[in-house]
Amino acid sequence: MRATKIVATLGPASSSPEVLEAMIRAGVDVVRMNFSHGKAQDHIDRANLVRQVAAAAGREVAIMADLQGPKIRVGKFAEGKVELENGAPFVLDASRTEPGDVECVGLDYKDLPRDVRPGDTLLLNDGLIKLSVEQVIGDRVATRVVVGGELSNNKGINKAGGGLTAPALTAKDMEDIRTAMSFQADYVAVSFPKSATDMEMARQLCNVAGEPWRHKPGLIAKIERSEAIPVLDQILRASDGIMVARGDLAVEVGNAAVPALQKRMIRMAREADKIAITATQMMESMIVNAVPTRAEVSDVANAVLDGTDAVMLSAETAAGRYPVETIQQMAAIALEAEAADDFRLETDFANKRFGRIDQSIAMGALFTAHHLGCRAILALTESGSTALWMSRHHIKVPIYGLTSSSAPQRRMTLYRNVTPLLVPKFTDRDEALAAAERILVQRGVLRPGDTYAITCGEPMGHPGGTNMLKVCRVA
Ligand code: PGA
Ligand code: MN
Repeated sequence: MRATKIVATLGPASSSPEVLEAMIRAGVDVVRMNFSHGKAQDHIDRANLVRQVAAAAGREVAIMADLQGPKIRVGKFAEGKVELENGAPFVLDASRTEPGDVECVGLDYKDLPRDVRPGDTLLLNDGLIKLSVEQVIGDRVATRVVVGGELSNNKGINKAGGGLTAPALTAKDMEDIRTAMSFQADYVAVSFPKSATDMEMARQLCNVAGEPWRHKPGLIAKIERSEAIPVLDQILRASDGIMVARGDLAVEVGNAAVPALQKRMIRMAREADKIAITATQMMESMIVNAVPTRAEVSDVANAVLDGTDAVMLSAETAAGRYPVETIQQMAAIALEAEAADDFRLETDFANKRFGRIDQSIAMGALFTAHHLGCRAILALTESGSTALWMSRHHIKVPIYGLTSSSAPQRRMTLYRNVTPLLVPKFTDRDEALAAAERILVQRGVLRPGDTYAITCGEPMGHPGGTNMLKVCRVA
């Protein structure tokens, strides 16, 4: 059983029911809908298709709506693109309305001239082009090309070191939140948040838009701005998880800083009882090739060893030639890395403090199952929080989150080492415990003679009510 989860972005390469089904069977746990592309109705249709196909395949798949965020981009060019020469002057002009040329281009992001100063470095097109700001006159940012190359329509702009003031949530994002809540997206990812306030605002908007369905999605903060790094602990507190969004992050903080940041971000997320997703270019070469590079194999394996909950695919599954093969190979790499992982639950545990009854039971179950060599841990959970706490620690015993409602069930698809299962609602404790064992025996997880640990709350059916741990042997 693979513990690390796979998030796959949907797009033209993964929109047919056949491909989608093959992807889900190959191991996709969460699909990501990129709201930078497509219309509201496209997302709604896609969500329906995902749920249908997942149900037919007998798999639980969550949906993550990824908001576009502020568009910090250049305008269009008369010829669609230009070739910028090293050392040449180039002007970014917020008031230019006519298409751009090799000397000057308009801006989608009108506030750029206010955000930059002479000496600043601007990085365009994912950092492939580097401009040095020489002068700002009114709406015109005069730059010198430091690293040239091809620049085409609407390419993104980042400022090295951060400092662009665009707010994280745009009017389009607010509209997209309403669309995502209409199909009850399980997670909403917020692009370019700079503070906990950005996440709190997004959560409020989601909860209000989800009200008609009493739906509250999980909130993921995409960490891709340098300003987010020093306030990461506050952002974590305001979110359910983070995405190590290495694409934009690398441009802002510099490529070389990203691997260490990835490790620190994953560690901080787990310590704060939050989820971590590692994203961008993980299997990039598989957009066109049937096998990944050795470096990509190592990258995926290292993210697994860092303790990430999930590894994410972007263009590989949205627009690549081998969406299904990419997932198969990513799953195989994760499985192998997990098997080779030497872990020390004891040291991981030593500094942990917990003051809640339900959390204490979760930790007790974890420690007991680890030392007894249990076959599985079963958590009868209303909200999924018991399974979340357990999954924040490194343990090779698989955790099963048993819940009677589908929202927490789908939420748990992102938790490392947790298999979410939907079970009937019970009011009698002994009946619930017997049913839980039966379900795991039916699935072939538990066999006669196996020991397992099970947690539940009594009285049953209260979120946060877990207060009981039982260790059982299958007759
Ligand atoms: P994006 O986010 O793909 O939406 O840009 C991920 C990243 O920046 O790495
Ligand atoms: Mn990004």
